Amino acid sequence: MISENLHKVLSTIKPGVRLVAVSKFHPVEALQEAYDAGQRIFGESHVQEMVEKEAQLPKDIEWHFIGHLQTNKVKYMAPFVSLIHAVDSLKLMREIDKQAARCGRVINCLLQIHIAKEETKFGYSPDELNQMLQEGEWKELKNVRICGLMCMATNTDDESQIEEEFKYAHNIYEEIKKTYFTDDESFKELSMGMSGDYMIAQRCGSTMIRVGTMIFGERIYA
Ligand SMILES: *Cc1c(COP(=O)(O)O)cnc(C)c1O
Repeated sequence: MISENLHKVLSTIKPGVRLVAVSKFHPVEALQEAYDAGQRIFGESHVQEMVEKEAQLPKDIEWHFIGHLQTNKVKYMAPFVSLIHAVDSLKLMREIDKQAARCGRVINCLLQIHIAKEETKFGYSPDELNQMLQEGEWKELKNVRICGLMCMATNTDDESQIEEEFKYAHNIYEEIKKTYFTDDESFKELSMGMSGDYMIAQRCGSTMIRVGTMIFGERIYA
C-alpha cells in the first residue's frame, strides 16, 4: 500500500524535484516500508519523534526537520539532521551554528518565508527576510549552510490563490538568490508543495516537495 502510494507520487514528480516523505505520526514500520520501496528522505516535525525513529531505522536515511523548531531542541538533532526546512530567526540560526560546531558539522538550512494569507503560519515576511540577510550576521555562522527557502501556501481549495502564492514565493527565491547568493551554489532549493498542492508547486518552480498523506494515509493524532 505505502509502496504503491509512493510510486504513484514518484511517477508524477518532475525531473529534478526531490520528494520528502513526511512521516510524522506514522510508526517506524510505515517508514521502513517506504524505505524498502526505495525512499531515503523522510520529513518529521517533532524533535523527539524524529530522534527516536532515527535510532531505529537504517543509517542512510536523510532526516529533514520540517516543523517549527524551538531553540532548546536543536541539540538533539544536530548530530544527524540533514536539512532543517523552517528556520525563521537569527536566534535559531545561531543555536544551529553552535550545535553543529559541537558535532563538527555544517547543517543545511532553509529559511521559511511567510506567503500565505493566513496569520498562523511561521516564517519571515519578504521584508524581514531581506533585512536579516542585508544585516549580514548569518555570514559569520560558518556551521550553518543556507540552501534556499521553504514556504507553505494558504490551506484553501482555491487553486488560483495557491498558484499565485507559489509564484510569488518563486519570485522571492530568485530575487534573494540573485541579491545575496550569486556565487553560492548551495543556494538552490525551494521547498514547497504538500499532498494537496504539490502539482501546483512543481509548476511554480519547487525543487523539493513534502508529501505525507498521499504516501502514508491520514495521520492519527493521539
Ligand atoms: C505535515 C506537513 C506536510 C505534509 O502534509 P500532507 O498534507 O500530509 O502532505 C508538509 N509540510 C509541512 C511543513 C508539514 O507540517
